[in-house]
Amino acid sequence: MFAKFSAEMAARLEEIVGKGNVIQGEDIGMDFWHDELPYGAAHSPEAVVEAHSTEEVSRIMELCSRYELPVTVRGAGTGKVGGSVPIQGGIVLSLKAMNQLISFDEETGTLTVQPGMLVQDVKAEAEKHGLCYPPDPGEKTATIGGNVSTNAGGPCALKYGSARDYVADAVLVLADGAVAKLSDKEEYASVIGSEGTLAVITQLSLKLVKKPAKDVILLFPFMDTESCLNAAAKITEAGFEPAVMEYLDTDLVEFSGNVTGNPVFPVEMDGERVGATLMVSLEGEDDDELDEKMESIAELAEELECLDILVVDTPTLKRDTWEAHDAFHTSMEAGAKCSDELNVKLPQENIAQLVEYAKEQGEKAGLNVMCYAHVGSGGVHIHTAYDGSKEEFLPLMSAFAADVYARCAQLSGCIVGEYGVGYAKVDTYKQTLGQEAYAELSARKAAFDPKHILNPGKVVI
Ligand SMILES: Cc1cc2nc3c(=O)[nH]c(=O)nc-3n(C[C@H](O)[C@H](O)[C@H](O)COP(=O)(O)OP(=O)(O)OC[C@H]3O[C@@H](n4cnc5c(N)ncnc54)[C@H](O)[C@@H]3O)c2cc1C
Repeated sequence: MFAKFSAEMAARLEEIVGKGNVIQGEDIGMDFWHDELPYGAAHSPEAVVEAHSTEEVSRIMELCSRYELPVTVRGAGTGKVGGSVPIQGGIVLSLKAMNQLISFDEETGTLTVQPGMLVQDVKAEAEKHGLCYPPDPGEKTATIGGNVSTNAGGPCALKYGSARDYVADAVLVLADGAVAKLSDKEEYASVIGSEGTLAVITQLSLKLVKKPAKDVILLFPFMDTESCLNAAAKITEAGFEPAVMEYLDTDLVEFSGNVTGNPVFPVEMDGERVGATLMVSLEGEDDDELDEKMESIAELAEELECLDILVVDTPTLKRDTWEAHDAFHTSMEAGAKCSDELNVKLPQENIAQLVEYAKEQGEKAGLNVMCYAHVGSGGVHIHTAYDGSKEEFLPLMSAFAADVYARCAQLSGCIVGEYGVGYAKVDTYKQTLGQEAYAELSARKAAFDPKHILNPGKVVI
């Protein structure tokens, strides 16, 4: 049983962060009650505490540990599994004001920042030095701390990996307020991707990389999902190392194109409906290298069984294509009365089976199911749209999710996906993980946070 927030606690916290930085009661904005989890229940924090430094976070954690008060860390609140929502009360520890650039080391290309810096600002800062921070999850207004805490990936995870691959070091505040460096102990590595359940990240040193100077997008339309994903496998086997390889279901690109008025991806070719499109981004050091790669991939066209190869090579076309891609999520919300999404990870060879299964189940349930996937890194986004009432939709969606998650497990997939577990998937995660792995997770949580005050009710319960 956790402590309830009290006037005494408020006074102690105000001593640490200053009076205006402990927000209570009706002054707490509704944004803090939820994140981007569709249909997530609203949970009001007992107080929101805005921190500005590692020292403040350390003193806050020391105090909350003493009082046994839950602490839910929050970046920008753009997570999609309820991770930053205080479902067991206590305080929300907001790090959004910790958004400063600390340093850039020319020699190693390492950027050191506070965790509240937005991903888009980290990317812009990297560019100033001719470098790049590659992880690019759909939401650029997320914080870098949130990205690392969810080990966010995105389309270019295929070539560039996910947030974890760019963390050179970090400053951590542990549950009892102790300050440590990520590099101090091997076991601290598990803080990355732990969704605020093991420690608070208060500083990040990021290894930036040089990106090849040239890139091109190729769109390969196919008659159906299976041939699209078979072609993706052939492209990988042939050693092309694309930076991005996205499976795009035509139902999705058509729905989204109708909503945005930006119908970039093919829907019909020579009077026939396209079943799916593979969006491939190739990179090269110069035009010659890129041309060579494009020629070699074109030579494969017959073997790939694609209907055509569309070349997207001007800055305007590339921008339009990425804008159309990045609009999938928001166009679902804008284009249907009710919409939701399941996000899982799957071995590349099993993605087609899960997509087909999801579409069949959706048809039976009366849900419009539309998918896309980061092929290779395995993240599959299964969107649903429904034009009836929320009361009709929610039970249909819940039954659909149970079926798809069960099939995903049969196909050696992982229901955590790219978004994480949060509270939205906590029960299914426990069921699908297996007893031994779950016991390991619980033991790790207890070792980091014996009083279970950090983000209780998330990931491991
Ligand atoms: C439209 C859309 C598309 C998306 N597409 C993708 C995608 O393709 N791939 C992908 O991987 N993700 C995707 N995401 C999810 C995205 O990764 C998360 O939104 C983001 O990484 C979370 O950052 P945030 O600052 O909003 O964190 P929050 O939502 O505030 O928090 C997320 C979790 O991290 C914890 N946390 C936050 N900061 C810290 C910290 N400093 N220390 C310890 N714990 C912390 C929180 O407690 C919470 O559990 C998408 C989200 C949206 C809205």
